[in-house]
Amino acid sequence: MPELPEVETIRRSLLANENAVLLKMEILHPAVLRRQDFEPASLYGKSIARIARRGKFLIFYFAQSSGHLIIHLGMSGRFYMVDKDQPLTGKHIHAVLHLDNGRRLVYQDARRFGGLWFITDVEEFFSCMGCEPLEDEFNPELLAKLVQGRKVAIKNLLLNQNLIAGIGNIYADEALFAAGILPHRPAGSLTSEEVQRLSQAIKKVLAESIRQRGTTFRDFRDGYNQSGGFQNHLQVYGRCHEPCRVCGHPIVRDRIGGRSSHYCEHCQH
Ligand SMILES: [Zn+2]
Repeated sequence: MPELPEVETIRRSLLANENAVLLKMEILHPAVLRRQDFEPASLYGKSIARIARRGKFLIFYFAQSSGHLIIHLGMSGRFYMVDKDQPLTGKHIHAVLHLDNGRRLVYQDARRFGGLWFITDVEEFFSCMGCEPLEDEFNPELLAKLVQGRKVAIKNLLLNQNLIAGIGNIYADEALFAAGILPHRPAGSLTSEEVQRLSQAIKKVLAESIRQRGTTFRDFRDGYNQSGGFQNHLQVYGRCHEPCRVCGHPIVRDRIGGRSSHYCEHCQH
């Protein structure tokens, strides 16, 4: 599933389309339309003022319009640009945005867990979403408050989008490894030193993945429809039975709260 670094990578690769005018949209599969607070065609002729991200969501702001387009890529979605003289080749293309700069933005999703939301009130839409882990608002003091007294496994707390936005299975496992903390530890059992390490590890792992243009296992592609590079730098995720890159012990995988978790029993405590 695309997580914060993958969605941020897509956002950055699409920035060249800011100021382009949306000419029209083709919705090829109505199931991807998740919410329409207004008629999407009312955005035709408006220019894209800003492409932002919140958690795992992309947000398109339009000039002189109170309407916004929000996109979530679900489990397997892709959102990328194609020049107008190039054919659209992929299967499962559900939406195409035609821009006046000669490009099309293509939403493709084999499994359709994601979608498009046409909404007016961005603040309301994200009112339940937790803090952005790469912003200054996320720091050891805040993480200490989030974990305090919580019996839930720290891995599951990290996945809770209402507390921290944008972290999924890959980066929760990687951050816990980087911080030397076992994923099934009750969140409230972390010492203040561990909270400090975890807070720093989350920022470091996410920032490094963005530098490597995200993680591609099967589905993720950036805004140019290209694979990311962080899969070559993963320490634990997807490395079950492979030797830990630090100590050589085999990486363990088990299920925590219904999600597969990868960790090193030797390096994490
Ligand atoms: Zn190890």
